[in-house]
Amino acid sequence: MSEPQRIPARIASAKTMKKIMADHFLGIDAASKDPSKRVAWCTSVGPAELLQGFGFEVYYPENHAAILGATRKATEYIPYANAAGYSPDICSYLTADVGAYMQGYTPLTAAYGIESVPKPDVLVYNTNQCRDVQDWFMWYGKHWNVPVLGIQTHRNIGEVTREHIDSISGQIRKLAEDLEPIAGKKLDMDQFRESVRLSRKCSELWEKVLRTGSHVPSPLTFFDGQIHMGPAVVLRGTRIAVDYYEQLLAELQQRIDEGVAAVPGEKVRLYWEGMPVWGKIRALSEQFFELNTCVVASTYCNSWIFNQLDPDEPFESMARAYTELFIVRSDPVKEDYIAEMCEDFKVDGVVYHDAKTCPNNTNNRYGMPQRLTERTKIPHLVINGDLNDLRCYSEEQAKTNIEAFVEQLTEG
Ligand code: SF4
Repeated sequence: MSEPQRIPARIASAKTMKKIMADHFLGIDAASKDPSKRVAWCTSVGPAELLQGFGFEVYYPENHAAILGATRKATEYIPYANAAGYSPDICSYLTADVGAYMQGYTPLTAAYGIESVPKPDVLVYNTNQCRDVQDWFMWYGKHWNVPVLGIQTHRNIGEVTREHIDSISGQIRKLAEDLEPIAGKKLDMDQFRESVRLSRKCSELWEKVLRTGSHVPSPLTFFDGQIHMGPAVVLRGTRIAVDYYEQLLAELQQRIDEGVAAVPGEKVRLYWEGMPVWGKIRALSEQFFELNTCVVASTYCNSWIFNQLDPDEPFESMARAYTELFIVRSDPVKEDYIAEMCEDFKVDGVVYHDAKTCPNNTNNRYGMPQRLTERTKIPHLVINGDLNDLRCYSEEQAKTNIEAFVEQLTEG
């Protein structure tokens, strides 16, 4: 008799998530056509709560760029931005997004019948992740002749000091002054505090969702996380995201209670360090599934945990939340973090994704994998690829290397 076919258990909450993401995009599209409403573009770890305090509808172009990647359209549009002087070596979120816009394309049309990305009244970035977001927003700011405002953040920070926090919270306060004439109203402190409170709640729940991965066997994979992180990125600061993660957490908790594994027969547990390969979520998830391997945790999905947020100190706590981020920190701090995650999630190996166009979120280039393997005795693998530009990703090579790595871990 043949063995029953192993199939991944579907996360039922995905249906709710699809609906709230659709509502999010349709809501912003409607707002961009309503003269009484204001739209702000914001970087994914930018000051969203402040913008909500002014009543802006907030749109996140990185999320749009990731959709271009996940629908495997990014590689087609990157060359148009390259031809306009934006190098193939810089952020492929930027080049895919700008290239698609130049060609009048958005995946929102096929998904939701939305003609174009929403025209902003203001674009607001934080360089905590990279300088690319600034250049990206400047392009659109010039194109539409709308203001571009930003927070310039310290990088490579070891200990976060009072000076760092004062400098960033000062910039957020100045940003609030500059946003007032664009919003046409004063900052609503009650709404601002409420957004910070809801963002904090969303973070706590999202962290609990991701923490279920520490259970053996894990009820979710990194690839599930990539899909279900949407509301934490684009709806933080709202009740909708809080309700969603309460629902998802309950479902994952039920899986744990019933012994349901994301990868039935889980034998190997991995940590993913670096950006996702958006165009290969399915292929990679299927390969790991076939290898009885669960990618149980990642730095990437954890990047939207902002437990420092405090409605009693909205400016200071935002400064802290958006400065204590992994991507802003020095290598020793990053190494402590990854070592702790590997222990908490009972990880057998670490996969580093060397994303060609994102040195900012690539951590294998200066000896970190070797130092961490020496320290934790946990083996590592580096795969070369990219977040969006599939020309930088050799699928065959990645497949072979992953297979050999898992075999090494299983034998060891
Ligand atoms: S962190 Fe990397 S992927 Fe994100 S916007 Fe910056 S360069 Fe692009």
